[in-house]
Amino acid sequence: MFSKILIANRGEIAVRIIKTCRRLGIKTVVVYSEADADSMAVEMADEAVFIGGAPASESYLVADKIVDAVRQTGAEAVHPGFGFLSENAGFARRLAAEGIVFIGPNPKAIEAMGDKIESKKFAARAGVSTVPGHVGEIDDTAHAIKIAEEIGYPVMIKASAGGGGKGIRVAWTRKDVEEGFPAVRAEAKSSFGDDRIFIEKFIESPRHVEIQVLGDKHGNVVHLFERECSIQRRNQKVIEEAPSPLLDEKTRKAMGEQAVALAQAVGYDSAGTVEFVAGQDRSFFFLEMNTRLQVEHPVTELITGVDLVEQMIRVAAGEPLAFGQKDLKINGWAMESRIYAEDPYRGFLPSIGRLVRYSPPEEGAVGAAVVRNDAGVREGDEISMFYDPMISKLSTWGKSRDAAIDAMGRALEDFHIEGLGHNIPFLAAVMDQPRFRSGKISTNYIKDEFPEGFQGLPPTEAQLDLMGAVALAMHRVLTRRAAPDLLRDDWVVVAGHNQRAVRVTASNGDFTVEGDGRTGRLENVDWRPGQPVFRGRYDGVDFSVTVKPAAEGFIIRHRATTLHVLVLTPRSAELHQKLPPKKAADTSKMVLSPMPGLVVSIDVAQGQEVKTGEIVAVLEAMKMQNILRAERDGVIKTVNVKSGDSVAADEVLVEFA
Ligand code: ADP
Ligand code: ADP
Ligand code: MG
Repeated sequence: MFSKILIANRGEIAVRIIKTCRRLGIKTVVVYSEADADSMAVEMADEAVFIGGAPASESYLVADKIVDAVRQTGAEAVHPGFGFLSENAGFARRLAAEGIVFIGPNPKAIEAMGDKIESKKFAARAGVSTVPGHVGEIDDTAHAIKIAEEIGYPVMIKASAGGGGKGIRVAWTRKDVEEGFPAVRAEAKSSFGDDRIFIEKFIESPRHVEIQVLGDKHGNVVHLFERECSIQRRNQKVIEEAPSPLLDEKTRKAMGEQAVALAQAVGYDSAGTVEFVAGQDRSFFFLEMNTRLQVEHPVTELITGVDLVEQMIRVAAGEPLAFGQKDLKINGWAMESRIYAEDPYRGFLPSIGRLVRYSPPEEGAVGAAVVRNDAGVREGDEISMFYDPMISKLSTWGKSRDAAIDAMGRALEDFHIEGLGHNIPFLAAVMDQPRFRSGKISTNYIKDEFPEGFQGLPPTEAQLDLMGAVALAMHRVLTRRAAPDLLRDDWVVVAGHNQRAVRVTASNGDFTVEGDGRTGRLENVDWRPGQPVFRGRYDGVDFSVTVKPAAEGFIIRHRATTLHVLVLTPRSAELHQKLPPKKAADTSKMVLSPMPGLVVSIDVAQGQEVKTGEIVAVLEAMKMQNILRAERDGVIKTVNVKSGDSVAADEVLVEFA
């Protein structure tokens, strides 16, 4: 076994690997860039080596610097995590040549599987069912159109070197190919330095089901069952679970066997994932193999009890697997929510910044469930524009799928982040949706359920009562301080479109709220003015909500629901009803920047006539290009920015006449 391992990665995955190494008594070294000098991983590792500037191309992607750091510290092996150099066969070869162990598969397997075109050919030869399409490179747009038309629309245009949801685009028409092919090619070139593109059939409304495999250097390969990752935006996973609600024993076995056959055919000798798209009828087709640890590996660990990082390390050290397929069993159900620095109310666009507040839920056993939070950040840290905008991965385990979902809902409720946009309200919404609970999901889930974009969920009656009680409690604390003679028992609570006259009985901080024939009891309140989180117990159930003072009341968010709640005297409630509703500013004639970023191009000029759907501008943020299209027909009145400009969120780029 190794005595010292270098981790060529950052963030939560570096922290995750350190935890296993500590348990195994292995010393750790992390490398870090300028942006990560004060990071949690650097703090936790036994040693840390500075390797350069914040852009990954100056640090985490430079093999020479990693090798130097290994030499300098005497580490015997390198764990690459995921992303960065993890699927780089050249890097694995280079380490081997230097006598350093790469904690991952052999370079031949990476080469064969790391490339989507090659791996598809390989899988087909190994008897694995693959997505119908053209298994080869495409030269230019004309060629792309020809292939797309042979396959039949819709098709998916894919970068052979693609990953992380980048370099992928669906085309429904010839026009989509004309636009999409050059765009995917440009994105592939800039993200992966490789612009080979292929096209395959787009399977409509599919599910993403993948098999975790594990091999050793002695020819043994097992699978650790499946994960379902169908809840995706931009072809990238946000919620994953294990096992999959789609599979029956027969399909599970067939998929597992195909995955193992593929791994065996390629001489696979580490942890890896064979990804499939599956139809609702449980037909399935190979998508790609990821020759590395996967972001969503915690759900597999939670249902199998196997530490995948430990297994990767043992296998890399030459140990044979200590268990066979028969020893592996599925125990219970696990969910993972990826907490991202992205704004669900604005099309999930990245929203980076400082974690002014970062307060995760308690980890470990919670009743009969388990909560696990894989994070690499602390309060005060920055989610920078240089890397993946993931804040943490929140996982829960329960005896059943419902139990895991319930635990996730509660854990998300207790996760409080401020300082940047984050997707917690969105994740909470999914946990509360009957369709998600029914397990009838697909990769279209987000588009189906939130066709107009995510705007939060409307309040349930129980939530209206809960938020009303919270507002009354805060109002009482504030009134007692500022104007005790205004304390009274009868109030009117206005929450959204709802008005409710209530009578409050308060004793020792506990509250009873009566009104409209309903009575609720609020207990265990310890809120003080200024605190952004209000915790308590309402009708016997623990809860937490975020609160912010606002005109005559508070903005309160419980899970996916945000409401402006006012506490009024009966007299002012009467007046309030007579006020005309406020109008939002009219932005229908403007194209606003949906996120902070760089203007790549402005595709319209003053006076130009444009039609709905035409490209107005292209923005880039976090290495992702976003095409902004006209949402109406019209004539351009003003163009306020030019290519190369940096713009803020909501900045007016173009105005229509
Ligand atoms: P896939 O969808 O192919 O399974 P995953 O969702 O598992 O990919 O994410 C892996 C990809 O996500 C990596 O290739 C990398 O681009 C990106 N990624 C996510 N988190 C990190 C991180 N902490 N460090 C580096 N890359 C990351
Ligand atoms: P990446 O390397 O970015 O993970 P994948 O090939 O795994 O790329 O595709 C990412 C996601 O895109 C899949 O999880 C799936 O939801 C969707 N997808 C990919 N190929 C197809 C296809 N042919 N038909 C339908 N959906 C697809
Ligand atoms: Mg994938």
